[in-house]
Amino acid sequence: MNKKTLICKFWLACMTGGAMAAAAVARQLPVPAATAAATDKVIADLVAASRILADLNVMDGFGHVSARHPSHPDHFLMSRSKAPATVTAEDIVEHDQDGNGIDANGRGLFLERYIHSEIYRTRPDVMAIVHSHSPGVVPFSVSQTPLRPVYHNSAFLGAGVPVFEIRQTAGMSDMLIRNAQIGKALAAVLADKPVVLLRGHGDVVVGPSLPIVVFRAYYTEVNARLQQQAIALGPVTYLEPEEARIADKVNEQVVMRPWDLWKKKVGEKQPSP
Ligand code: MN
Repeated sequence: MNKKTLICKFWLACMTGGAMAAAAVARQLPVPAATAAATDKVIADLVAASRILADLNVMDGFGHVSARHPSHPDHFLMSRSKAPATVTAEDIVEHDQDGNGIDANGRGLFLERYIHSEIYRTRPDVMAIVHSHSPGVVPFSVSQTPLRPVYHNSAFLGAGVPVFEIRQTAGMSDMLIRNAQIGKALAAVLADKPVVLLRGHGDVVVGPSLPIVVFRAYYTEVNARLQQQAIALGPVTYLEPEEARIADKVNEQVVMRPWDLWKKKVGEKQPSP
């Protein structure tokens, strides 16, 4: 393919709205239509997830959600550094396995992208990740009381919720997961669980899809608040591990119901400037 043909193809791809396809043409990679469509679908769901998590007050000006790249499974898709409620498809950057933005084009990336790169590296089952400073969970990250499931919606917490102590890896730090070494240590503490708390910081939630990870991030926040209310009333009866395991299967079957509702609600709002 000569340079002129390449530029023409790149321009044509841009004009037809396939930004990801255009980037692939620029790299001279064949992009089957089905693959480009799958990537566009993940990008659309990622934008929705970002806005939903802001709408549900799991995120505020901070926080990020990512998805494993559908055609480059060692890469992931995530917004450039931007407030979650304002994210659009044009803000989504493909990150490589080390957290480098391969189509960032000078755009600033999240400092804590190593949360995502190191978890995707060690957890092949994980397809989506949320990091937030979900306010209800912070007390559980600094106290001796473990976060445990008080009701069926948060049954996934029955697997146990570890707390990452950053001092063990980084000593005195700014508390951020700002390099691969700290990200790797965090992924080791998460191990095979769906949620890990970050002491004095927030949490990281992982899942097999964007709807499920959004569901888990939201109900982790709700459970934290309900658990504090229950503790204030006296001794608490938590879900048994077996109840949690059975109940979580149902949650995964019905997850599209709240996802569709949340997506509709954020879709009806005017896009943020
Ligand atoms: Mn953070």
